[in-house]
Amino acid sequence: GILVRDLAKRFGAFRAVDGVSFAVPAGQLVALLGPSGSGKSTILRIIAGLEAADSGSVELTGEDATALPVQRRGVGFVFQHYALFRHMTVRQNIAFGLEVQKRPKAEVAARVDELLELIQMSGYAGRYPTQLSGGQRQRVALARALAPRPKVLLLDEPFGALDARVRDELRTWLRRLHDEVHVTSLFVTHDQQEAFEVADQVVVLNRGRVEQMGPPQELYERPASPFVAEFLGTVN
Ligand code: ATP
Ligand code: MG
Repeated sequence: GILVRDLAKRFGAFRAVDGVSFAVPAGQLVALLGPSGSGKSTILRIIAGLEAADSGSVELTGEDATALPVQRRGVGFVFQHYALFRHMTVRQNIAFGLEVQKRPKAEVAARVDELLELIQMSGYAGRYPTQLSGGQRQRVALARALAPRPKVLLLDEPFGALDARVRDELRTWLRRLHDEVHVTSLFVTHDQQEAFEVADQVVVLNRGRVEQMGPPQELYERPASPFVAEFLGTVN
């Protein structure tokens, strides 16, 4: 799983992340939900090792990862604007992380085929990113992230740039995929409905602090603060 303790990060005098602790149990899909500017991406970048926290710690599958560089954390990520390699085919994109690890050719080919099947794009191996729809590109990005079998998967608004219908399809698809692969995942979104549909548990963030964490049903029925109630649209 993922365990973050007391994370803090300032930009100048501004506390973007202000003492954040939460856990993503192994195999679960947890949503980090909050309004724009609440610190979601900053937290994800700290967990990924792309940004250093001022204080606090990050544990990944029981190991202290706070001081590890990004390459050694065993994380896969999919970001809204973390584009595919344009000059590489779908197959080459998915194979990238495995080739960096110098895996044997046959193993790489087999793993890529398996992932193409998982994302339901077996017929697209030879295409280039510009020949794909936005939704297909994000599915390939997900396959690329999963290829080296990361310990944890970090997703930052991966469907944010897509239109509502495609976003909706991909949500359902991601949930089904997670039920198959069970990789520990943290999914950032500012969309309550998306969080509730996709996640086993939801962490609600406000101004760099955790307001509440729990299964969707619980947050819905017992919001811990007026902010949570209002943000989830359950004002009573
Ligand atoms: P969104 O939903 O809009 O993506 P977010 O919850 O992901 O928002 P963050 O990107 O984590 O929010 O930013 C949290 C706060 O920290 C924001 O007020 C942002 O302006 C500020 N911030 C983030 N990165 C920097 C930076 N490099 N320098 C200065 N301020 C920053
Ligand atoms: Mg963000």
